[in-house]
Amino acid sequence: MDKVTSYIKECETEFMQLLGLTSFPIYEIAYKDISLSVSDEQGYDSLGSAHYDYKTGKHTLTVWSNIHTLGEVGKQTIFHEFTHILDDETYVNKDPEKYIANHGYTEYHAAQIGFLKVLGVKSIKQNISFSMSDFIDTESGYMSIQDYVDAPLLLANELIGHANFPTEFKVLKDTMGVIFNYFGRRSICKMYSKDYQDNADTSTIEKPLTHAMCSFLKTYLIGVLTNQQIAVLGKFYKDMFLALVNRYHV
Ligand SMILES: [Zn+2]
Repeated sequence: MDKVTSYIKECETEFMQLLGLTSFPIYEIAYKDISLSVSDEQGYDSLGSAHYDYKTGKHTLTVWSNIHTLGEVGKQTIFHEFTHILDDETYVNKDPEKYIANHGYTEYHAAQIGFLKVLGVKSIKQNISFSMSDFIDTESGYMSIQDYVDAPLLLANELIGHANFPTEFKVLKDTMGVIFNYFGRRSICKMYSKDYQDNADTSTIEKPLTHAMCSFLKTYLIGVLTNQQIAVLGKFYKDMFLALVNRYHV
């Protein structure tokens, strides 16, 4: 087995230990080179992505071909993407309508699991506690937990602030994903931080979401969601997202 494949297999074992899983969906691994120009233009280009073909049920994990050289930090991305694979398998299961509905939840969930990996958590059963001023090693650099939690909100603000937002469907979808990543990181702080203050300025994301929807998400996206809550969120997300597609004509 080559180095990057054994690194990904090691991540899979650690991921299953973290969540107490006894099995994990079958997936294919694909490799990519990171494009700095894409990253500069869009302001984001992740080290990895997961793709689910809802017609065949096939999962593909695409990662940067040198991701193993990043050590522990690179595992944060893989944990995020593994969560998408798990959620697509569990909640979409070849249903195209559910594929859209699941997008918000799975970004919330993947951000939670990625954050736990950043914190060095080995099992969700262990005690977790941190301060917002603690420093952490992340795929975006060494930073305070406060900055880590604020990062997706600031990125969403930047994307929404662009002229002619959203220029295309992908930008709208990615922006929604980043917003749910923010709520995922926020939820971990609400659960485990000693000194989190929930007072971020969400006025920019309220422009596409509306104040009412944003308020709903702030109260609903707390902790670990039950299957029933995930289903309710899925319906909410699908209606909200399709309304945005119509409103912005993308
Ligand atoms: Zn994601």
